[in-house]
Amino acid sequence: MSSRKIEDLHPDLQPICCEFLRRCETAGLDILVTCTYRSNDEQNRLYAQGRNGVPGARVTNAKGGQSAHNFTIQGRPAARAFDIVPLVHGKPVWDAGHPAWKEAGRIGIELGLNWYGRPGAKFREMPHFELNKGYL
Ligand SMILES: [Zn+2]
Repeated sequence: MSSRKIEDLHPDLQPICCEFLRRCETAGLDILVTCTYRSNDEQNRLYAQGRNGVPGARVTNAKGGQSAHNFTIQGRPAARAFDIVPLVHGKPVWDAGHPAWKEAGRIGIELGLNWYGRPGAKFREMPHFELNKGYL
C-alpha cells in the first residue's frame, strides 16, 4: 500500500499540501489525498498494470525510482508529489470533466504546484500535483 500521510511528503511540500487542503475546504471542495509516498516496488507493480497481459488500465508511465512519489531523503520517504480525488457527497469523483477537478487544479497552480491535469500537460494525470523544480 502506498502512503497517504502528509509526513511522507518532501519537507517543502508538506506545508503547501496543508495549505492546498485548507484552500480547497474554503472553496467548498471535499478532497481526499489518495497517495503521497510510494516505494519503488509499489511503483513497479503499478507500472506493470495494463502491460504485458497484466489486468487493469495503465495508470502511470513511471517505473520504480522515476516517479516524484518515489523520492526519498536519506532513505526516508520525501515524496515530491501527491494525488487527490474530489469527493462529492462522500464519494470519489473520477470523471475528469467534473468542475471540482478544475477548481482543485486552479488552487494547486495558485500555490505554485505543477498540476498534471492542466490543459497542455505532456502526460495528463488529473489527480497528480507535483513540487516544481527549483525546490531541492
Ligand atoms: Zn501522482
